[in-house]
Amino acid sequence: MRETNWPTRVTRSRDWANSECGAGALAGARCAMTKTFFIETWGCQMNDLDSQRLSGTLKLRGFERVDSETEADLILLNTCSIREKSEHKVFSRLGALREEKWRGAKIGVCGCVAQQEGERILERAPWVDFVMGPGNVGHLDEILEGQRKVVVDFPEDRRYDFITIDRPSLTKAQVTIMEGCNKNCTFCIVPTTRGREVSRPFDDVIAEVRSAADSGRVEIELLGQTVNAYRCPASGRDFGTLLRAVAEVPRVLRLRFMTSHPAEVNDSMIAAMRDHSNVSRYLHLPVQSGSSAVLRRMKRLYTREKYLETMLRIRAAIPEIHFSTDFIVGFPGESEEDFQQSLSLIEEVRYGSLFAFKYSPRPGTPALKIGAPVDDAVASERLTRLFELHERIKRERLESYRGRVLPVLYEGPSKHDATMLAGRTDDNYVVNFAGDASTPLGSMLGVRIDHAQHHTLRGEVVA
Ligand code: SAM
Repeated sequence: MRETNWPTRVTRSRDWANSECGAGALAGARCAMTKTFFIETWGCQMNDLDSQRLSGTLKLRGFERVDSETEADLILLNTCSIREKSEHKVFSRLGALREEKWRGAKIGVCGCVAQQEGERILERAPWVDFVMGPGNVGHLDEILEGQRKVVVDFPEDRRYDFITIDRPSLTKAQVTIMEGCNKNCTFCIVPTTRGREVSRPFDDVIAEVRSAADSGRVEIELLGQTVNAYRCPASGRDFGTLLRAVAEVPRVLRLRFMTSHPAEVNDSMIAAMRDHSNVSRYLHLPVQSGSSAVLRRMKRLYTREKYLETMLRIRAAIPEIHFSTDFIVGFPGESEEDFQQSLSLIEEVRYGSLFAFKYSPRPGTPALKIGAPVDDAVASERLTRLFELHERIKRERLESYRGRVLPVLYEGPSKHDATMLAGRTDDNYVVNFAGDASTPLGSMLGVRIDHAQHHTLRGEVVA
């Protein structure tokens, strides 16, 4: 395990000194000198959290966040390169942003496309001011000062300053516990774009969770590309030990984590989940394929049988557990028979939610040289069939909630009906419900479900 200096920096006073209009910006009044920024975010939860960190750093420098690029002095694209499509979108977006350059806006490309493409972004879009990979989110200050234009290393000093995170939710906080990935699945670009696995010190994670819970964020989501491979660099404490400690932080009502790798599930993790009822009984366990032959070519480090055995072990300890997952269809060499095994796995496990993608070739990954490509039309048709099957299973699950009272974490007014409140079930479904609007945000309520809509539930508070 590599030891990384991952200090917690508190830069408030120095950054305020850099603010051009000081406390005026804090009060929300935009003075003539206030600089503005706009962030557009693609991709996974890690990118969302990186944007919250970038936003927090900028606000401490006196910048004010705006909702449109046309009003912004600084435009940041926080990009994703997990599939080719997302990468193309970034370049077409950069083309459109060229106009903003004429009026003097600065443009920065951050995230995984920045890491993957580096200098090439400046060659294709010379109007970009800087390119900054995910390892350098904590170094935005120096980059804004213009010291470096292309910053795509993975510095030993990761600078993780949780005090500055600009969290959009009043009830939920995402907390990074590790970055990078050592698994090297043959289809995946993450080890290139996010580097080798680095875990944060145990005590730093607990300090951040305490601070978030003290500010009313009663739902905590621990984040990492392979979150359950966590190991404290100083003490060697594992993910299960961390999970227990976080679950015991006062006021943490719901604890989620993302993304677990099936091969890293162990007894310590299962026991920590079993012993703490505030740990969500809804586990995201990406399988990618139901065929052991495909899993071997993907280098997923488990077979279909081993994956199911892992689920059984979890279920034996926590009978009420249920699962969500990711699938890739059309991986090179995937036969109709292999695909049928993905369908049969979905029937067997009955996932509550499922994310599925057509295989997308990624630069430099070993899958480029493995097996015959699957025809695009065949892959599209398989994806449709897979979604149709899961739609039916999900529908049955939502219907089965009718008449039941579910614990719902109250998050605020409903987005679709101002007379209703909204929150989420343990398995992450949105529930719109009738209730008392003076209920404190973050309360755990008993909601009787009376209606299952296409993707959401409706009900009424009973407890
Ligand atoms: N680290 C997690 C893991 O390995 O289980 C997943 C991280 S990735 C951001 C999210 C999902 O994107 C993966 O689970 C996979 O289903 C999908 N994905 C990754 N690479 C892909 C590729 N080359 N083509 C299509 N989908 C891909």
